[in-house]
Amino acid sequence: MRRLDGGRLVIASHNRGKVAEIAALLAPFGTEAVPAGDLGVPEPEETGTTFVENSELKARFVAGATGHPALADDSGLVVPALDGAPGIRSARWGGPARDFSLAMTRVEEALGGSADRRAHFVCALSVGWPDGVCASFEGTVHGTLIWPPRGGQGFGYDPMFVPDGYAITFGEMEPGQKHAMSHRANAFRKLIAAAFPVDPPARG
Ligand code: IMP
Repeated sequence: MRRLDGGRLVIASHNRGKVAEIAALLAPFGTEAVPAGDLGVPEPEETGTTFVENSELKARFVAGATGHPALADDSGLVVPALDGAPGIRSARWGGPARDFSLAMTRVEEALGGSADRRAHFVCALSVGWPDGVCASFEGTVHGTLIWPPRGGQGFGYDPMFVPDGYAITFGEMEPGQKHAMSHRANAFRKLIAAAFPVDPPARG
C-alpha cells in the first residue's frame, strides 16, 4: 500500500473516544489525527454488507470530502450460532439509546440454550485517499460468551466476552490489557506494518 509519511490523517469518526485512541496510536509516527467533524464532514450512511465495505465507504467519503487521506473503522461482535449476528449491526442492537445491557440480553435470549457460545470481535480499518484508492486491514479476537455479564470496564459487549486463554471478561480486564490484545489492536498492527514500513538499512 501507499505509505503514510506523517502529516494529517482525517479520522472518519464522530466518536471522541475512538478519535483519541487512534490519535495516541498514530502520534509516534508523526501523524496528526484530525476528527472529520472538526472539518465539517458529516458521517455517511453505513450501507455496506461487511465490516470492510463499511469502513471503506467511510474512508473514501471523508477523503473525497476533505482532500486528505482518511482513516475509518467498523467493528462488531460476530456470533456463529446466530449466523454471524449482531455483526455489522452490533451498535444498532442497543436500540436508539445504544443500551448495551439490552443488546447483551438480546444476544443471550437469541442464543437460548445453544451449547455453542463462541464469538469473536472484528475490526476493519481502512485508509482512503482522495483519488479513491483504499487499503483495508482486519483484526479479530476470539472468545466465549458468558451469562450473566461481569465487569464495569470497557464498553459494548465487553462484560459478556471472555477472550480465549483467559478466565475474565473484557469488562473485568484492565483497559491496557484489553487494548493490547483486542481486534482493534490486531488490525492496527497490520495497518502500521503496511503504512509505516521500516526503511531498509542504508547500503555501503
Ligand atoms: P462502530 O464500529 O462504532 O459502528 O461500533 C460497533 C459496535 O460493536 C459498538 O457499538 C459495540 O457495540 C460493538 N463493539 C465493537 N468493538 C467492541 C469492543 O471492543 N468491545 C465491546 N463491544 C464492541
